Amino acid sequence: MQFVSTRGGGEPISFSQAVKTGLAPDGGLYLPQNLPNLAGFVEEWKDLSYPDLCFEFMKCFATDIDDEVLKGCIDRAYSTFSHQEIAPVKELTSNRYVCELFHGPTLAFKDFALQLLGQLYALQIKETGESLNILGATSGDTGSAAIHGLMNLPGIKIFILYPRDGVAPLQERQMTCTGSDTVFPIAIEGSFDDAQRWVKQLFADQDLKKTYRLSAINSINLARVLAQCVYYLYAWLRLPEEARKDLEVVVPTGNFGNVLAGWMLSQMGVHIPKFKIATNQNDILYRLFEKGEYRVTDVQPSLAPSMDIQVASNFERFLYYLLDQNPEKVRNIMKTFLETGSYSFEHFDRGIFSATRSDDESILKNTQMIFEQCNYVVDPHTACTLEDFESHEGTQLLMSTAHPAKFPEALNRSIGKSVTHPTLEALKSKEQNRYELPSDPEAIRKFIISKNKS
Ligand SMILES: *Cc1c(COP(=O)(O)O)cnc(C)c1O
Repeated sequence: MQFVSTRGGGEPISFSQAVKTGLAPDGGLYLPQNLPNLAGFVEEWKDLSYPDLCFEFMKCFATDIDDEVLKGCIDRAYSTFSHQEIAPVKELTSNRYVCELFHGPTLAFKDFALQLLGQLYALQIKETGESLNILGATSGDTGSAAIHGLMNLPGIKIFILYPRDGVAPLQERQMTCTGSDTVFPIAIEGSFDDAQRWVKQLFADQDLKKTYRLSAINSINLARVLAQCVYYLYAWLRLPEEARKDLEVVVPTGNFGNVLAGWMLSQMGVHIPKFKIATNQNDILYRLFEKGEYRVTDVQPSLAPSMDIQVASNFERFLYYLLDQNPEKVRNIMKTFLETGSYSFEHFDRGIFSATRSDDESILKNTQMIFEQCNYVVDPHTACTLEDFESHEGTQLLMSTAHPAKFPEALNRSIGKSVTHPTLEALKSKEQNRYELPSDPEAIRKFIISKNKS
């Protein structure tokens, strides 16, 4: 299996090369040259454990990695999850199911991709002998998922910048209480935007980038999308046949990475008739799928912070398929979009997608509603999937992306109490290990170099 860029540049490359490269040199994102058709044998995978299913699926793509080696990576990646089923599916009512994606080490769905990505990076380091310095900025979730995916792997150091006063205390503890000496959480004076700006500036320093092999915590790595396809397949195999017929899968959406993975699986012969994109008040994708207009506006901080984004980077992958896999058309649209911040589609064919939008008020109201109706507690991101819980006809599978214990304030405001999780409770008594630096790229540069000397 070979992989190509959405913008058509370069020759097709192997799975391992695509994982290593991250963003394609032409600015595009990698995708499989052809999607496999799983229809003929997918039912045979019904009784496989999560890691075994993941192996069968990834084998279709990672054709340049030895089977035994791939299996080892996958087994190690998912051994860190606390639930035996990894992605358990629960029945809430006769036609509402929820797939819980929060049983990984940081209690959010990004663990599915980053635990595996860490293992794949470690494999490359083992084969090439080249070490890596991972550098990124975070306002919370992605940073801690990356830290937990990549820490304690030989040859990898992780530097994560975050605003000193801009991250929730529990999230900060998830980054700073790992006890790992390969992790460097850096609290900077300044905002998240500053942190992101310094990261970009350091990556632009070619000398530094080459000498210290700087690599990004890529939200757009091909391996992340493929790893995420697996839980859709796992959940689908667990649904009764009746439920699959009129199924709608509802996905909390920010960067479009999660829902894209589900949709790609549906293009591989797994019958999922409908997807719903559930946004918070940062609703660029809602406006696109309901009104055909793709236009950036300012980010409004919400109760579901991991979906507070304005440009959905993974959307480009969907665009590629929407435009009949024509890279020239992708290039033209992306160019207009990047230059002007908007693009108006003459005719936007939304296919099997629909979208909803939840403001903070709906998030609180719906959290309360599902607690009263089903005695089930959801986090604010998952609450966005409940916009038409009561009115939708047919079956829904809700993808639950974070454990509610991560968001005590929103829970207190909606249901008058919070819930706890042993992982988070344990953090409260652990020692924090963080580095404070001024908001100055030179100081950060020196820090990275010094940590590579000792
Ligand atoms: C990242 C994240 C999302 C959004 O996922 P995308 O792939 O960006 O659409 C939703 N919920 C939680 C808890 C997240 O961490």
